[in-house]
Amino acid sequence: MTGADIMKDIRREYERDRAAAESRRGERQAEIYAEIPRVAEIDAEISRIGIAMTRRAISGGGSGGDGGIGNLTREREGLLAASRFPADYLTNVHKCPKCHDTGRAGAEECDCLKARVIDAYCGYSGLMSDVFARENFDTFDITLYSASKDPKFGVSPRQSVKAAYALCVKFCADFGEVYKNLLFYGSAGLGKTFMLNCVAGELLRKGRSVVYQTAGALFKRVEELRFGARENAGAARLMELVMECDLLIIDDLGAEFATSVTIAELFNIINTRLLSRRPVCISTNLTPDELKAQYSERIVSRLHGDYVKVAFFGEDIRLGKRYGRV
Ligand SMILES: [Zn+2]
Repeated sequence: MTGADIMKDIRREYERDRAAAESRRGERQAEIYAEIPRVAEIDAEISRIGIAMTRRAISGGGSGGDGGIGNLTREREGLLAASRFPADYLTNVHKCPKCHDTGRAGAEECDCLKARVIDAYCGYSGLMSDVFARENFDTFDITLYSASKDPKFGVSPRQSVKAAYALCVKFCADFGEVYKNLLFYGSAGLGKTFMLNCVAGELLRKGRSVVYQTAGALFKRVEELRFGARENAGAARLMELVMECDLLIIDDLGAEFATSVTIAELFNIINTRLLSRRPVCISTNLTPDELKAQYSERIVSRLHGDYVKVAFFGEDIRLGKRYGRV
């Protein structure tokens, strides 16, 4: 699915939402009419007067006051205020009260549109995605990690992951106040993506915008943009989000096929977000040395200088089972 298709789908979704809002309004009106028939009479009367006034105005006649509309409106308001219906029963019918399901709030894009674009591209959302129900700080189980000391690291995997867990909880708690980037590294199957999901879910719940991309998917978009940027408004939009969202997550860096173009773009993303002090979390199965071999020196020097490095290690078979990699 291309970016343009995604935007088309989103527009269609908004059309459906507006139609649903209209029919909801109709149902509620029928409900009110059934319970307070006088309101139906008033509405019919107001519309009759309105039509007559328009006719007179077109044929050049005088306006002759409001024809009683003011009184009728007041009577209607009084009836509804005394009823069980909330004051905004007929107007509060949209999914998004801010933009009335148009995606635009004045000249700006509504937040709900931003959220839908993020959903469509990143498969992440504060509303959907049962992944956060399964993978969150409450379900992260450090006892799956071995408690015996790793000779290379001098601590046990459990001790290490406990510290990583605490670091990530703090990262979320301080988010927006303390600027920090995280780099998770270590072999596959040790819970790096799980931990990223914990962070993403926590921040989404706090109303932050989070864009999640595997490095492979991200660089595919970059290529898409390069070959046909103008026709591809959706991919361009994604790149804006990648630059501007509150937290960018790049999962599985190093698994993708890196080209000079994607390497340049990765540098651009990392550097732009550094300059604007917008946090990034990256996970990679590569060691710091392997990263250096695969990417340019200037990328790696930024990852070293400005990222808190978090090692994931251990060989626990239960971990492999848990993360579905064995
Ligand atoms: Zn909206």
